[in-house]
Amino acid sequence: MLYWWDRLKPQFSPLLWGIAMGAFAYALNPWAAGLVFGAVLILALLAGYVFAPVPIHLKSTRADADDPLRAILPPLARAVIEHLPAPVMLLDANQRVLFVNDPMRQVVPGDVERKHVSAVLRNPEVIEAIRQTAASGVEGQIEFSLPVPIERFYQAYTARVAADPPAVALLLHDVTTIRRSEQMRADFVANASHELRTPLAAVSGFIDTLRGHARDDPKAQERFLEIMSVEAARMRRLIDDLLSLTRIELNEHVRPDTKVQLEGIVRQAAQALEPLAASDDISVKVACAAEPLAPVVGARDELVQLFQNLIHNAIKYGRPGGHVLVTIGHNESGEVFVAVRDDGEGIPQTAIARLTERFYRVDVKRSREKGGTGLGLAIVKHIVSRHQGRLTIESKLGEGSVFTVFLPAGAPAAPPRPGSPVAVTEML
Ligand code: ADP
Repeated sequence: MLYWWDRLKPQFSPLLWGIAMGAFAYALNPWAAGLVFGAVLILALLAGYVFAPVPIHLKSTRADADDPLRAILPPLARAVIEHLPAPVMLLDANQRVLFVNDPMRQVVPGDVERKHVSAVLRNPEVIEAIRQTAASGVEGQIEFSLPVPIERFYQAYTARVAADPPAVALLLHDVTTIRRSEQMRADFVANASHELRTPLAAVSGFIDTLRGHARDDPKAQERFLEIMSVEAARMRRLIDDLLSLTRIELNEHVRPDTKVQLEGIVRQAAQALEPLAASDDISVKVACAAEPLAPVVGARDELVQLFQNLIHNAIKYGRPGGHVLVTIGHNESGEVFVAVRDDGEGIPQTAIARLTERFYRVDVKRSREKGGTGLGLAIVKHIVSRHQGRLTIESKLGEGSVFTVFLPAGAPAAPPRPGSPVAVTEML
C-alpha cells in the first residue's frame, strides 16, 4: 500500500492537470469530456508508476544541522556503520559518546549516549588511547580485555575523523577466540612436557643407580629394570595418545565418507580388551538391539579407538569382579547409540563437565596407577565431534557410570534379518 503511494506521489501535478483539463473539456463538450478525463488520468497513473523513482527512506541532514552527530555522520554512512559486524563508537572532541552501532551495544550495554567514555568503557588504556588520538590526531592501536560478564579480549583501533566538529572513532576487533586457543596451546605444551618429564626423570634416575651402587646387585637391577620398562611404556602410551589426538584434530573438519556398521566395530573394540578385563575379573557384555542397525558414516579405525577408550575406562575404573555392559541400539530421533555402563566407583557431578579436557583426571594418582594418560576422553570427544555425534555422561558415586555416544544414522535400515532373536547378548 505504502509502496504504491510512494511511487504515485510525485505524479500529483499531472493528475491535477488531468482533472483540470477534464473539467475544461466538460465545459466545452460534456460527451467528449469523459474520454479526455479518463485518458489523461490513466496516462498520469501509468507515468507515475513507471518513471517515479522509489524514494530512499533516509532523513535529511539539513533538518538536524544543530545535532553534532548529523553534521559528521550522514544517514547513509550511519546506516552502513550500523550494519558493520565490528563494534564501532564515535566520540566528540570532549570524548562523549555520539554514536554506537549494534555490535558495540553488546560490548557497552545500557544508555551510553552523551556519556563520557570513562563512564562507558572501564579500561584506562583505551580511554588514554582515545584521549591521545583526540589530542594529536595520531591513530592508536592497543589490546585490552573486559573481565565481565565473561572475559573477552579486544584489539582497539582509534582514529580522528576530520569533520566539523572533529570526532574520534573507536573500532574493536574481538580476538577472544585467538587468545583462548593460544592459551590452550601453551597449557597443552606445558602439560604434555610435565607428563613426559616424570617418567623420563624416573628412567634417568634408575640409569644412574644401575651404574652406581646397584652395579653389583642383580636383584636390585632386575627390580629397577622392571620399573624402567613400566615408565618407558607410559611414555610410549603418552606419545601415542598425543599423536592420535593431533591426527584426529587435524581431520576434525573433514567428514568421514564410508558407511560402517557399529556392531562389528564395538565387538572388535571389546574383544581387544578381553585379556585386560579378565585380569581384573571383570565381565564385558555387548548387547545389540534385535532390529537391524542403520549404518553410520564413519572412519572405522577412529570408531574402534573411541569404543576401546570408553570400554578401557569402564574396566580401569570399574569394580574388581564387576560388570561392563555395552548396549547398541536406535533412539526415537533415529540416532544410533552405544552406551558403555560400568558398576565402578562413579564420578563426582562437579567433575563430569571437565572429563573431556586434556589431562584432566578426577584422581591423578589412580589414573597413573592404571596406566592412564589423561587423554582418552579428549580423543573420544574429538572423534565424536568429527562424526557429528554427541557424548553424554551419567554417573552416581559408588554406583557406576554410563558413557553414551550418539551418532547420526547414515542410511536407511536394511530389511530385518530372518529369525533374529529379541536381543543378542554375548559374554566375552
Ligand atoms: P585416563 O587416561 O586418566 O583414564 P581419560 O581421559 O580416559 O584419562 O579419563 C579422564 C578421567 O575421567 C580419568 O582419569 C577418570 O578420573 C575419569 N573417568 C573416565 N572414565 C571413567 C569411568 N568409567 N568411571 C570413573 N571415572 C572415569
